[in-house]
Amino acid sequence: MQLSIVIPLLNEEKSLPELYNWILEVMLAHSFSYEIIFINDGSTDHSWQIIEDLATTNHLVKAIHFKKNYGKSQALHAGFLIAQGDVVITMDADLQDNPEEIPELYQLITKDNLDIVSGWKKKRYDNVITKNLPSKLFNLAARKVAGLELHDFNCGLKAYRLEVVKNIDVYGEMHRYIPLLAKNAGYTKIREKEVKHQARKYGETKFGSERFLHGLLDLITIWFLSKFGKNPMHLFGGLGILMFFVGFLSALYIGVSKLYHLYHQIQDILVTQNPWFYIALTVMIIGTLFFLTGFVAELILRSNRKTERYKVSKTLNH
Ligand code: UDP
Ligand code: MG
Repeated sequence: MQLSIVIPLLNEEKSLPELYNWILEVMLAHSFSYEIIFINDGSTDHSWQIIEDLATTNHLVKAIHFKKNYGKSQALHAGFLIAQGDVVITMDADLQDNPEEIPELYQLITKDNLDIVSGWKKKRYDNVITKNLPSKLFNLAARKVAGLELHDFNCGLKAYRLEVVKNIDVYGEMHRYIPLLAKNAGYTKIREKEVKHQARKYGETKFGSERFLHGLLDLITIWFLSKFGKNPMHLFGGLGILMFFVGFLSALYIGVSKLYHLYHQIQDILVTQNPWFYIALTVMIIGTLFFLTGFVAELILRSNRKTERYKVSKTLNH
């Protein structure tokens, strides 16, 4: 099979039929062998009924149903798990991403042997203040942290070599950083392609303005994980040693000055009246805490329990 088209969706009943027909048109025009995987992320409208109808008329439509809303990342994760096509395309269900981009994305992955081609909505049809501007800043931060020259990390329209989606773990809200997750997993042939973008035709955006705060916090997490995820002791142990060293020097200073004063029989303040005493105390305690954190982090890493993050309640054609 050439293509898997993975579409996460939450309450997109109005867009679904149009989206499906459009994708089908493109698939037929280029005679692709394909599957379309809809992941219904806990919709409360008629999205699932529509998908059920599509799946009965076309067995190449596969679907996963979440009973509740687990988030776009979890939906993508579930879709990636069952995808079988040589090239996996992800796209949003709201008709903002244009299915006519698919053939070119496919070509880029197969001909140029790329790992990921990430869409770039250069001309964007979203609200300027609430979305376009914050998104520019957000992408700037992501570029710096990731060391990837991408303009639009969070574009829903992307293409992947099958191997890539099988080896990245999209969790939490990390769908914003899939290129970085892939880079960290060793898939570095990442390119960008300008894609056409449409204004949302039906329904409304599912992400509020908290997306940017969450996005930046996730960026810090991902930076930390990619730098110290495999050896947290290198960070915490390092900080611990540094703190301990400062504490030790302070204590040494107190001790030496005490001895000096005693020896020369100079009137001296009590140790607890010396500010260095508190510096030594605090810093050594913090140093110890850093060390303990490092040990605990290493232990957690070793136990590495795989916990279930979402429950699939039904599937179709799969
Ligand atoms: N989506 C989802 N689960 C969620 C939120 C969104 O599956 O919890 C889907 C949504 O239906 C759409 C895609 O993710 O297909 C992108 O969402 P949206 O269009 O709201 O994001 P925006 O375009 O505003 O960034
Ligand atoms: Mg959208």
